[in-house]
Amino acid sequence: MARPRIVVVGAGFAGLNALRRMERRIPKDAAELVLITPNDYMLYQPLLPQVASGLLTPQSIAVSLHRLLRRTKMVPGAAIGVDTKSRTVVARKISGETTYVPYDRLVLVPGSNTRVFDIPGLIQHGRGNKNLAEAVYLRDHVLAQLELANASDDPQEREERCTFLVVGGGYTGVETAASLELLCEEACKRYPRLRESISWHLIDIAPRLMPELGESLGDAAMNLLRQRGVQVSLGVSVKEATEDKVTLTDDRVLPCRTLIWTAGTSPSPLMEATGLATNKGKLVVGADLAVPGSPEILAAGDSAAVPDLSKDEEGALCPPTAQHAMRQGHLLADNVIASLLGQPLQEYRHKDLGLLVDLSGRDAVARPLGKEITGLPALGITRAYHLYALPSGPGRARVATNWAIRALLGGEVSRLGFLNRKIDTLVDPEETSQYLDQDQVRQQVEMARGAV
Ligand SMILES: Cc1cc2nc3c(=O)[nH]c(=O)nc-3n(C[C@H](O)[C@H](O)[C@H](O)COP(=O)(O)OP(=O)(O)OC[C@H]3O[C@@H](n4cnc5c(N)ncnc54)[C@H](O)[C@@H]3O)c2cc1C
Repeated sequence: MARPRIVVVGAGFAGLNALRRMERRIPKDAAELVLITPNDYMLYQPLLPQVASGLLTPQSIAVSLHRLLRRTKMVPGAAIGVDTKSRTVVARKISGETTYVPYDRLVLVPGSNTRVFDIPGLIQHGRGNKNLAEAVYLRDHVLAQLELANASDDPQEREERCTFLVVGGGYTGVETAASLELLCEEACKRYPRLRESISWHLIDIAPRLMPELGESLGDAAMNLLRQRGVQVSLGVSVKEATEDKVTLTDDRVLPCRTLIWTAGTSPSPLMEATGLATNKGKLVVGADLAVPGSPEILAAGDSAAVPDLSKDEEGALCPPTAQHAMRQGHLLADNVIASLLGQPLQEYRHKDLGLLVDLSGRDAVARPLGKEITGLPALGITRAYHLYALPSGPGRARVATNWAIRALLGGEVSRLGFLNRKIDTLVDPEETSQYLDQDQVRQQVEMARGAV
């Protein structure tokens, strides 16, 4: 008899943990494991702000799946649809070809995307910090603004390039603002005349920063940011963005060429595309992580509406955090095995262990197990936790080495050249098409003269 095929979509916190456990617990000849994934690494997202600031190299938080998964067959691409009737996933390979992957059990864990709103100019001018390309882009962009400001004698342009806005007062926005502000401080050693011009703004429509940290730690984080010169405004959002300014909902206008958008996440569109029931875009599952009425499909993590049994509130859902996704990954494996064996499934129950927020430099705030900690002890706990949670030895070694290099030798503030440019041909990266022939040069110089 053919082995049952278990197909997992997504290799993030939930997917990787599920697969590693299934590889350990399911004998080789008992089931086939297939992973559909656009990347051959698991991204340790909580350290993305440190890649954006250049404290960590991108490789150090991209944990190789080839190292961690021994017998899972990988389909390099993205799932773009699911036919639940024929039990088939439609996937688009990274080559662009479409492929069809039948399943006996399906585990949907594609995570979330940056949540956007219908704000004029947001899509065109905002930039997120949700993947490696965006983190590396942000660093290059911020450093490019400083270089261009330093090279300009136009006070208006200098103000626009030296004003940075981060939208979103959750941990992503707070850590991104804190780490990039520190990058600017380092860069100012090279551009001392910009020191007075640089301004960082962090805004959120909510009345507090990181409400999940509790009032006093949220305030502590805000005070630390303000001491470092970050202007924090609460109860405010963006009304409109253009290339060189952002208008806020309180009608302030910031001359600004950097809008970093970290105002929440929305579940992967794949969940709506399944045609199964969703709750605000998240796939509806029971506390056992199985889809009601389609028990061969299980889901978890940021893209599933997993009931939070640790809370008394009716309808409470687990928040979209790595902490939950990792643990749900383990239960996904156990419940897939139970369902293949015809055994009852277990329910997910986990009490939040708290939050750790690295504010860069020597600052951090943490609430492990309900205890409030700030400063160096919080930084120590935060970094120790990341080293423990990173799923591979080489990843841990790279991260620890990067931290040590920074502490001993300081940081680098050079751009890597990954500005937002599409690479469509072999010659694009070298920009061989940017040079002007003689006629074009003359024409442009004439035009410029005419404009003066
Ligand atoms: C900057 C930042 C900081 C964070 N800090 C913290 C923190 O301090 N603490 C904390 O608990 N949480 C933190 N989080 C949240 C945490 O990273 C997420 O909650 C967690 O990654 C969710 O796990 P997941 O497995 O559901 O999804 P993910 O880890 O996002 O994994 C989903 C995977 O699915 C893949 N995928 C997407 N679409 C498809 C598709 N169509 N087909 C196949 N594969 C697909 C993706 O490439 C990805 O590999 C942070 C997030 C960010 C962005």
